[in-house]
This record gives sequence, C-alpha cells and structure tokens, in this order.
Amino acid sequence: MTQIEWDRIPMVDLTEELTFIREPILDKMTDVVDSGQYILGEKGEQLEKQVADYIGSTYGIGTASGTDALELSLKALAIGPGDDVITTPFTFFATAGAIAQVGARPVFADIEKDTYNIDPASIEKAITQNTKAIMVVHLYGKAANMQEIMRIADNYDLRVIEDACQAIGTEYNGKRVGSIGDIGCFSFFPSKNLGAFGDAGLVTTNQPELYEKIRGLRNHGSTKKYHHSAIGMNSRLDEMQAAVLLVKLYYLDIFLHKRKESANRYTENLHRLLKTPAVAQEQEHTFHQYCVELAERDELASVLDQSGIDSAIYYPVPLHLQPAFDYLGYQKGDFPIAERAAKRILGLPIYPMLSFQKQDYIINTINNFLANNG
Ligand SMILES: *Cc1c(COP(=O)(O)O)cnc(C)c1O
Repeated sequence: MTQIEWDRIPMVDLTEELTFIREPILDKMTDVVDSGQYILGEKGEQLEKQVADYIGSTYGIGTASGTDALELSLKALAIGPGDDVITTPFTFFATAGAIAQVGARPVFADIEKDTYNIDPASIEKAITQNTKAIMVVHLYGKAANMQEIMRIADNYDLRVIEDACQAIGTEYNGKRVGSIGDIGCFSFFPSKNLGAFGDAGLVTTNQPELYEKIRGLRNHGSTKKYHHSAIGMNSRLDEMQAAVLLVKLYYLDIFLHKRKESANRYTENLHRLLKTPAVAQEQEHTFHQYCVELAERDELASVLDQSGIDSAIYYPVPLHLQPAFDYLGYQKGDFPIAERAAKRILGLPIYPMLSFQKQDYIINTINNFLANNG
C-alpha cells in the first residue's frame, strides 16, 4: 500500500487553484467594494464583452444563473404555452426545467451511445407542427453534432438554443459552442469550468433583436429606467461575481488545458479496460466531467468510496423518468440509450489542479478493481 497524503479525493477541489488567483480576485473585489456600484456596472459590462469575444459571438448578456439564461432565451424567442421544444433526457434537470417553466412542453429525443449527446436522427423523428426550437446540450463539455442539428433546424425552420453550461471553450469545426445556434447559454456555478463565487450565468447571441430583448427581460422588461416594454424578471450578474469571473476568464484556457491533460491521462490508462469518453478532435471536449461507462458501475463506485475517492453519477435518472415530468406521459423504455447510460455512467474526479499522484492512485484503484472483477 502506498502512503496517502490526503484524506479524500473530492470530485472537484476549488481551493487548489486559489494559489494563482486569490490575490488578483481580491484586488478586483476590492475595486467593486470601493466603486459603490454593485449591480449592472462596469465589471459586468467588461465581462459580457470579454466572454462574447471569447466565444466568438457579437453579444453577451449577464444573468443571475445558467438556468435563468435558458429561461430568458426561450422567452426572447417568444416560446411558451402550446409550443414544443425538443431536448435530451440525459442532462441536468435545468435544461428541461426551463422549458417547462416558460409554459412550453419539453419533448425528449434519445442520445447517441458514444457521445451521450442528443441524436440528430431522433430529433427529426420528434418534430411536429408544434415544435418551435431544439435545446441542445453539450454534455460534460463535449460538443453535440451541431452540423446535423443546424441542418435539421434550417429544414424545419426551428430555433436552436445551445445549453453550453458545461462547455465553455469547447470548439466545434473551428467555432466555440454557444456561437453556433441562435442563442448560447452559460452557467458560472462555482463548479463549472468557469465558476463564480456564487450563482451567475450568461447568454450569447449574434442577433441584435435577441440581444435587446434579453437585456430587457433580465431587468423587468426595462431598457430605460421605470419604462417597461415587456414583463421580465430580476436576473442580473452582479459586480462581485463579474470581478471574480474576469480574473478566472483570463486563466480559463490554461485551466481547460490542464483538464484535457488529466482526461488524456485517464484515457491512456483506462481505455483498454472500460469505456472512456469519445473524442474525435483535440478541441471538442473540455471535460467538465470525465465519465467512464461499465456494467459494474455501482460496485466500482463503492470500491472507490472505500478507498477515499469520490465519484458521481451524471445522471442517475433520465429526465423523462423524473416524477416532476410524469405529466408528459413518458415511460420506461422510451429512450433506451439514455436509460442504459444512466445505469452505467460514472464520473471520476477531474479539476485543473488534480495532481498526478492523486490521479495515479485513482487509476490504480480502478485497475485493481477491474483485475478482480473483469
Ligand atoms: C449547471 C447547468 C445548468 C444550470 O446552471 P445554473 O447556473 O446552476 O442555474 C443548466 N444546464 C446544464 C447542462 C448545466 O450543467
């Protein structure tokens, strides 16, 4: 047994990267304190511009969360009661939650077995005359098949919202995700690849009308103070979070590179023994999560746990089988590929500062488990 110098290995350790960024973040936060401007100020505007530039979109609009970014996007596209939005059942709840929240109907389409992203062929089968939009998720940081999805959207005159909450910086055919559809939505939840010190989100678009609409809707439908042209919500990205995010955005590519290095190391050491993530091109996966797939998933999770290693299931219950969506009338067996993935997927610890030493310990623990169970 090797000597272990830590208590447990968590899924994410957000404190380790502070070594590099604590000072500049505290400096920028002090600027905000001294400015007296805490909501809709200079830092928020800087962040909107810089994130839009980074993504390759014309406009950025800060929001209070990724969930709100999704909801505001649907509202800006005038999607509501009577409308269907096609999405994946294999995602975080918020994707479909936002669709239901604006009064539209989430319509699920099954996923591809190797990428875990929505399958364009099943999108096409789910289209009806009520379909208004496709909400694509780039799950775990891996780009969905946007070429096919945009082709389908063009053919059927559907809008495309990219839920890029897990995929900031991911590239697809030379573009960054979030700049390909009509609207891109990002989350800066602390554990996301670009994380704030609280809740925050952002919308990107190239379309000036959508930009104006979303900017109004996030501020009670007002672009001029106390004049309201629509009924919106209170969903702004505050100056403190903008201060944190401006510093972290500067380091984002370095941190994404380190994630990819960790992911490659996992894959090199594990791909012979279990199913590792599919990556066709270097840039198309930024590894918000590193998930492996195996039949003995629960046994491996419990061995990891006993060895002091956290792991997590993203996601144990596909959305069409969630009690909250009973009213949609879906049943077990409707989306077999998503259901199978939910039974077999396991996320391993991954974060920019994950040390080789810790990673080797994780890899060895998995190898030992598979040697005894394979
Ligand atoms: C995190 C996440 C969201 C929601 O973002 P919040 O900022 O937590 O509201 C939406 N969709 C996906 C795929 C996510 O991973």
